[in-house]
Amino acid sequence: MDRQSKMTMNNAKNNRAAWLRGGDAECDAPPKPVKRPRRLVLLGAPGSGKGTQAELLVRNLGGCHLSTGDIFRTASCSEDKVASPAVREALDAMAKGELVRDETVLDMVRERAACLRCGGGVLLDGFPRTVAQADALADFLIQQNLRLDAVINFELPIDTIVRRLGGRRTCSDCRAVFHTESHPPREEGVCDHCGGALLQRDDDRPEAVLVRMAAYERETAPLIEYYRRRGLLLNVSADGSPETVCERAVRLLEADGAV
Ligand code: AMP
Repeated sequence: MDRQSKMTMNNAKNNRAAWLRGGDAECDAPPKPVKRPRRLVLLGAPGSGKGTQAELLVRNLGGCHLSTGDIFRTASCSEDKVASPAVREALDAMAKGELVRDETVLDMVRERAACLRCGGGVLLDGFPRTVAQADALADFLIQQNLRLDAVINFELPIDTIVRRLGGRRTCSDCRAVFHTESHPPREEGVCDHCGGALLQRDDDRPEAVLVRMAAYERETAPLIEYYRRRGLLLNVSADGSPETVCERAVRLLEADGAV
């Protein structure tokens, strides 16, 4: 099947209810099990386009886009956020641009272990973000007799990152990502897909961006070497249109035998 047909086939966006809401939530339309489910990790500094690439890669390769940031953003809209001190602390860290504590992130991911086992394959976006999280993921995968196929590291110069983050707008309903310059919605402030309101994330404000970049350098950048040593790393330049970058990533994955 050519890539265009695959994209059309995978175009129905699944609702990721099990991942976003956890507990006993079930996805309305879980990804169809495939013979060889791919498990990929996406790495990259804030603003390198991981979220957009995750959406495009899912359309190309199937599977489910699992973002830990989306779990926290969903929790921030939930009514019981007042009930859980751990979630409150996480949302507070997130609004400042700081990383959420490893234990909280790992609890959330463990609760959603079935998603990592999903027979449709997964693209992990924003997790792992520290060496402790990467070690925990590796242990989990060994226990489950699963393995990562590849880790894609999206590379981008810092001045491009700052420009990108300033113009980013996210749909408050379906989480689709737009950009005021490079990917504007048809109608200003309104999501093309679901009509939801497009908002600037708290953590895309300039003061939070500086904190996020520092956290990335300190905690997440070491994962590049971590996965390089394990023979899983694929570096992809994130400069260019989202489609060009995605094409580049898919070609590398194919050349590597990961897809
Ligand atoms: P993201 O959408 O991936 O940029 O995540 C938004 C925010 O959620 C981050 O700035 C962190 O505050 C928090 N977050 C998401 N994933 C993680 C993670 N794996 N570890 C720690 N904090 C996280």
